[in-house]
Amino acid sequence: MLIQFYNVSKIYPNGVKALDDVSLKIDRGEFVFLMGPSGAGKSTLIKMLFREEKPTRGQIFIASRSIVRMKRKEIPALRRSMGIVFQDFKLLENKTVYENVAFAMEVVGAKPNDIKYRVPELLKMVGLKGKEKCFPGELSGGEQQRVGIARALANQPMVLIADEPTGNLDVDTSCEIMELLYDINRRGTTVIMATHARELVRNAHKRVIILEKGKVVGDYPNGEFLA
Ligand code: ADP
Ligand code: ADP
Repeated sequence: MLIQFYNVSKIYPNGVKALDDVSLKIDRGEFVFLMGPSGAGKSTLIKMLFREEKPTRGQIFIASRSIVRMKRKEIPALRRSMGIVFQDFKLLENKTVYENVAFAMEVVGAKPNDIKYRVPELLKMVGLKGKEKCFPGELSGGEQQRVGIARALANQPMVLIADEPTGNLDVDTSCEIMELLYDINRRGTTVIMATHARELVRNAHKRVIILEKGKVVGDYPNGEFLA
């Protein structure tokens, strides 16, 4: 089991209960959609995974390690084991496509030779061969998100977390990005994706967890959401 939540609640200092007694398990290799209206607690759940927030109550294990008891100095390693993809891409505008991906490896101290080998491989995998020298501003939204995905995968994370990755993309481009995420999942990376895109989720036939007011109100196995 890769991720385990046991009776997790999160009450923010202002008194808002963002998660209310959430228990769930996610296995290695799964593709999981996280759905639910705005304010349901999706972002809070995601932030717990990389210890940006700590639960108020309950336990969370990632690869059998308690992230509640985790020491501060262990947090960077936890975060390196996760790749994160954002709705608004969060690329460095003054760096090229190549440099954006290489930078993610440089900051964790990867060897120059590994970077030189891995970055072109990643860019090819996400379909950006030939765009290495472009700046983000010269790319379409879909291409920018491909850079975001390549960067998230740079350090071979055990889980890829995507928070509304298609939120700024049109329908056709969203479908292309989904195909890429399914491909990454088929190659073995666990994927957790928060989204509002109901149509896209319906067509995916993947597991769907639905949050409402901080509670898990539905957990549908592959293919059973609106089956
Ligand atoms: P909305 O945008 O209408 O709030 P979301 O997609 O954000 O909807 O939230 C998920 C909603 O889907 C929840 O209201 C949940 O109750 C509902 N739901 C529950 N079961 C199913 C199902 N099998 N298929 C589709 N929707 C479901
Ligand atoms: P979602 O991602 O599903 O929209 P969030 O996890 O962002 O939901 O938010 C869940 C609830 O927690 C909301 O009521 C939100 O206003 C509140 N919330 C989120 N972050 C904070 C914070 N840092 N401090 C206080 N309240 C917060």
